[in-house]
Amino acid sequence: MKFAARTLHLQPEGAYQVLAKAQELEAAGADVIHLEIGQPDFETFPNISRAGIEAVRAGHTRYTPPAGMESLRRAIAEDAGRRRGMTFDPGQVVVSPGAKPNLFFPTLALVEPGDEVIYPNPGFPTYQAMIRVAGGVPVAVPLLEEKGFSFDLEALETLLTDRTRMIILNSPGNPTGGVIPEKDLIGIAELALAHDCWVLSDEIYSRIVYDQKMVGSIAALPGMAERTIIMDGFSKTYNMTGWRLGYGIMPLDLAERVGLLLTHSVGSTAHFTQYAGIEALTGDQAQVAEVAAEYQRRRDVIVEGLNSLPGVTCRMPQGAFYVFPNIKAWGKTSREAADWILEEAGVALLPGSAFGEYGEGYLRLSYANSVENIQRALERIKGIV
Ligand code: PLP
Repeated sequence: MKFAARTLHLQPEGAYQVLAKAQELEAAGADVIHLEIGQPDFETFPNISRAGIEAVRAGHTRYTPPAGMESLRRAIAEDAGRRRGMTFDPGQVVVSPGAKPNLFFPTLALVEPGDEVIYPNPGFPTYQAMIRVAGGVPVAVPLLEEKGFSFDLEALETLLTDRTRMIILNSPGNPTGGVIPEKDLIGIAELALAHDCWVLSDEIYSRIVYDQKMVGSIAALPGMAERTIIMDGFSKTYNMTGWRLGYGIMPLDLAERVGLLLTHSVGSTAHFTQYAGIEALTGDQAQVAEVAAEYQRRRDVIVEGLNSLPGVTCRMPQGAFYVFPNIKAWGKTSREAADWILEEAGVALLPGSAFGEYGEGYLRLSYANSVENIQRALERIKGIV
């Protein structure tokens, strides 16, 4: 079949491929521990589920304005502004089914064919996909282990050209758990201002940070609110991946454009899901901190366990729920190592190369799983290395 060129580069996400293979093994009787999946293993908090169910019962099952219900946009503007020390107009908030459309549509709205977009590599695979669908040229900033997988300012400086339209940031980051320190955010902001480019700041893991660290938003730096799209959402913070609820916050004109793209694509986000979102933002927040503390406990267990394996070194991530150990000493490609561990040890994890060429030599393990399962997985891997 002949497909439009803009879709020919698209690939499935690595996690789904490994999951399918793991399920095949399970169907044949294998016992697989799943550390490949990037979603919380906790249930949606009960107050939020209740609000969603009540919303369905109350008949909130209709279309809403494409960019979201006014009451939810207000709640997001208030909550997101307070957390970042900023003030947002509800009109700047674009609600979407999951956060992903707020990566894709701002990119479609801003990037012309041939424009360059700088993105983190290893990084979330959607970045490359959406840049290329928009006709843009993806330009990788290597995230280096020796720099804590933060954004490499020196590399950024050499990669910026007069065709650079946008810089994508993701802090805390998937797949590394790396965080961009405030002083680097300031450096990136200076470069973005000097080169007159947009910043798309993926802050979906901003509530899952460790060691009492706060992660700042580049949008709060002087001159940046006018050129930053904050992408955030409910999937990771409130265990709501399947509800599909996220948002972008951006300058008003851009929010209107992105709203038009939503109008003519998804139409609107599910009505009752938006009520659940209001409860998520205005209800008990202590449970968010409790879950983050549990992730931190798991992080400490998995990092220590990985570092005790022969030929493995693993940095301590500062946020999100992923570790990204270096396995170069094994002399296998990431893909070979991931396949081997799945087949021989029954542990599903992802090759670092699923997140771009600079992820080669690493694995990604998600610790959105119980300490017990993490310990069993480590024992199993120890048994084969
Ligand atoms: N950005 C990053 C870095 C992610 O890891 C994810 C989900 O895995 C998303 C965005 C998308 O979030 P959502 O499920 O709300 O669309």
